[in-house]
Amino acid sequence: MLLGCIADDFTGATDLAGMLVRGGMRTVQTIGVPQGTAPDADAVVVSLKSRTTPAAQAIEESLAALRWLQAQGARQFFFKYCSTFDSTDAGNIGPVADALLSALGSDFSIACPAFPENGRSIFRGHLFVGDGLLNESGMENHPLTPMKDANLVRVLQRQTKRRVGLARYDTVARGADVLRERFAALRAEGVGLAIVDAVDNRDLMHIGAACAGMPLVTGGSGVALGLPANFAAQGLLGDPGQAARMPAIAGPAAVLSGSCSRATNAQVADWAATRPVFRIDPLALAAGQPVARQALDWARAQAGVPVLISATSAPEDVARVQAQLGVTAAGELVENALAEVARGLVASGVRKLVVAGGETSGAVVKALAIEQLRVGPQIDPGVPWMVADGGAADGSPLALALKSGNFGSTDFFAKALAMLD
Ligand code: ADP
Repeated sequence: MLLGCIADDFTGATDLAGMLVRGGMRTVQTIGVPQGTAPDADAVVVSLKSRTTPAAQAIEESLAALRWLQAQGARQFFFKYCSTFDSTDAGNIGPVADALLSALGSDFSIACPAFPENGRSIFRGHLFVGDGLLNESGMENHPLTPMKDANLVRVLQRQTKRRVGLARYDTVARGADVLRERFAALRAEGVGLAIVDAVDNRDLMHIGAACAGMPLVTGGSGVALGLPANFAAQGLLGDPGQAARMPAIAGPAAVLSGSCSRATNAQVADWAATRPVFRIDPLALAAGQPVARQALDWARAQAGVPVLISATSAPEDVARVQAQLGVTAAGELVENALAEVARGLVASGVRKLVVAGGETSGAVVKALAIEQLRVGPQIDPGVPWMVADGGAADGSPLALALKSGNFGSTDFFAKALAMLD
């Protein structure tokens, strides 16, 4: 293992893993800190759920992940957080970065959430989302991590005792050598964490090159764009075209949808226009009807034709159900039902699963007891195919595409399945 990564949430981990694969690194995402030894891969991304937990817990889990990655021989470490720098004055970006630096015996790292392709750029230390500042992007109203200040030097300084500095665009644009000198100068001034400006992919490549050999890098998935080249330059990576290669997966396919986002509603409607759908009614679930079993019987009757089993509903229907059952109870009923359907489908031979919804995906992965996913080719930005080696009970591999609600084109479900044909 060359690069050991710690991500503060599941879909963020997938995003980072996809970026590393794009750079030619064979990458595996794990769910939590694994028990055993590392899979054969150039990079491993340990996904935690530490974005909004108390800082002490986030530190503890991140250090456990670091220890495991160190034991597996990783040469460099990456702490991944959201490109909108989701955090509060209590953490968790600063405290986790501090703890990782101390554990590595290091005194300097960068902090760069920039991802210009996705509209996240940093200039003079200020984070922009599209054409506006972070604190005018809607993120100022986030229920858990309201971002009311776009000046990342200030934001991070409130979270850490280490001095926070800035590597400005003027330096970044002049290339990796000049930037490396700037890092050394900042470090000599006593800076422990440096926010780094970046407004396009060329900047990210410079930053990546300047971070060669730095024990810990922290940032969004954008910064990972420039890291694989450092390992490739040392002749440590194989054929870059092979990094996203998946084994041929034989067996039927199915789609499960538990997201009620606008994008997913359009995707379900697009599929339903020409293909079979089973609709899950949360009120039937609440009434104790065996909905999951009915869905499985129906799926079996489709004789191998790819099916969609969906709880996806329009906002007014979701509101009606939630008013009757409560938001949490409705969510859990649907998640549990889809998880049971996923288990039943895989038990009956399904080997390709597309899942829509972040929480829904989490429930499905848990129900299938999947601990590791090898990251394959990208279907749409931020959503790759992944393979759970031995994910089925008979030891055969399982292909999974886990889509967070708002991702993917309207024909996403059919497009994803077509990629495996
Ligand atoms: P997204 O990625 O779009 O946020 P999630 O799966 O994370 O999707 O969240 C959607 C939540 O809505 C889940 O908890 C799911 O169980 C719940 N849900 C799905 N369908 C319905 C429905 N028809 N009525 C109420 N809640 C639903």
